[in-house]
Amino acid sequence: MIKFANVSKAYPNGAVALENVNLEIKKGEFVTIVGPSGAGKTTLNKLILDEEEPTEGSVLFENADIATFSRAQMTHLRRRIGTVFQEFRLLPNKTAYENIAFAMEASGKSDEEIVSDVPHVLQLVDLQDRMFHFPSQLSGGEKQRLAIARAIINQPEVLIADEPTGNLDARSTNEVIEILKKINDLGTTVILTTHDPQLIKAVGQRIITMERGRVVADEQKAHGKHNAV
Ligand code: ADP
Repeated sequence: MIKFANVSKAYPNGAVALENVNLEIKKGEFVTIVGPSGAGKTTLNKLILDEEEPTEGSVLFENADIATFSRAQMTHLRRRIGTVFQEFRLLPNKTAYENIAFAMEASGKSDEEIVSDVPHVLQLVDLQDRMFHFPSQLSGGEKQRLAIARAIINQPEVLIADEPTGNLDARSTNEVIEILKKINDLGTTVILTTHDPQLIKAVGQRIITMERGRVVADEQKAHGKHNAV
């Protein structure tokens, strides 16, 4: 579904964020990318979202080179990918319900769809009892679950979660990971990044380790296989 072929990325100031990255993410996978701060994880996500372009190599989405996308194709690509970030990015003056309704309105959904879908997605992330709470009235874990609900409301094929547990305690971290697993079980490809090696114990499937812009390991946890790169 997503393929990095010999991808390097240097920023204009000379910082090298990625060096010769090769990897393929298949539809339906749950991929965890782990590495210390500065390893290149966010840059990898930005390249998938066409927010940055590789200096060398190509990033392919369903075999099409993202760099060649027109503006319309880029908009379409971004609709197919939901995003969640460490800092939640919720609207503080809107309730949980309104945060999601607002995102649906922005993508052209009808009032009927909003009324029927918002409670459903809040239930999926176990926030049905927090529907009319404002972000300031929610715990960190609840805020992140709300951000996840908002990210999946348009049924994206891929969910990118960039350090979603970076601000959370252990219990909230587990809640968020469980929700991400559930979304993956429902068919969405999940790409999770973290700087926390401890988190690997909680996540399943595939673990990609990055260091200084390089993929240094690509491990299939479920099958116990380990491929040093
Ligand atoms: P991570 O998400 O793993 O912390 P990043 O992709 O954010 O890593 O950063 C990788 C490297 O690229 C770091 O050295 C960082 O300083 C540099 N970098 C990231 N974004 C920019 C930018 N917009 N301009 C210049 N350098 C950047």
